[in-house]
Amino acid sequence: MLTDSELAVVREVLIRGPIPRRDLAARVGLSSPSLTRLVTPFLASGLLVETSEPDSGAVGRPTRPLTVRSDWGRFAGVKITGDRLHCVVTDGRAVPLVTADEALISHGPEQVADQLAAFLRRITGEIDALGVSVGGVVADGLVVDGVFLGWRDVDFGALMAARLGIPVVTENDVVALAEMQRWFGAGLSTSGFALITIGVGVGYGLVVDGRVVSSREAGAGLAAHVRLLENGPECELGHRGCADSLLTSRSIEGRYSALTTRSWTADEVLEAAARGDEAARQVTGESALALGRFIALAANLSLQSTVVLAGDGIGLWALEGDRMQEAASADRGPGADAIHIEVDTSGFAAWARGAAVVAIQHTLRCGQGMTGVV
Ligand SMILES: [Zn+2]
Repeated sequence: MLTDSELAVVREVLIRGPIPRRDLAARVGLSSPSLTRLVTPFLASGLLVETSEPDSGAVGRPTRPLTVRSDWGRFAGVKITGDRLHCVVTDGRAVPLVTADEALISHGPEQVADQLAAFLRRITGEIDALGVSVGGVVADGLVVDGVFLGWRDVDFGALMAARLGIPVVTENDVVALAEMQRWFGAGLSTSGFALITIGVGVGYGLVVDGRVVSSREAGAGLAAHVRLLENGPECELGHRGCADSLLTSRSIEGRYSALTTRSWTADEVLEAAARGDEAARQVTGESALALGRFIALAANLSLQSTVVLAGDGIGLWALEGDRMQEAASADRGPGADAIHIEVDTSGFAAWARGAAVVAIQHTLRCGQGMTGVV
């Protein structure tokens, strides 16, 4: 195990490196001599390395920015939906090396574990740790209520660890995605943001003061039923105009199909809207208004002025970004900072990367591979 200071130093170098020593010292609150004392063993072990370019503007003896050895760590992240396994293999900085997905054969936890283990053996090579993310309530790695899989109190991490013999971390999918954004996305420039995902479902996550809010409610999907339009369609729970009724792929498909004579996929509706089809624009415009209101609501109530949009339905942004921004601004009070919207357009890959990031974080926390690396 690393001490708290050691962990903070390695984490900062991993997510921000190459980083000049003075910036690193300021970030972790250490004096320059203390930092040198702390960093020296990591340089000796080979986990941290100095880059070839000297720090610019440094006073006194020249130093070189620090970075984590480029080949440190290889991780897998898997998002399990109701019908597919979405997998990514990443390096220690969550940069995707391999992505792959396949249809789920069964929902039984043992069968899913067998299928996933075989799938990973085919595509990953050797990995240090695996992160798994699922929709629903996950507490301390236990899938308490896996809504899309029908799982109750499933210790899926234990099933996978028994098959693969490596550490496995299981987390709620939106929490994992928020962790990815915190370390390798929006979190690099701000300590707090709200995260909204749209696609098969609607997800909401929150990072405050550099921490992901991960209470039991974080996985309960409550934000999906916040009401956004007075006269919107009804969701399955009977709410009129809630986020679920206006923003999911199912909603976009359903509303457009009702206006036309056949059924469509959400992607086809977005394509039709992009071509200028009036009925499709009506549907996407209504969704954009709802998402704009959702963005403002998230920013206003969480007291965070940055909102990150992600998920497999985020193609809506490219089509209706202006309308969303307009709607978000309209619900922002006078005197407030403008809402800064960041969009992760990587779709399903982002979910799987989120799962990989919780595996990276776990590995770091446990100090595995941190000392005596060479
Ligand atoms: Zn609802």
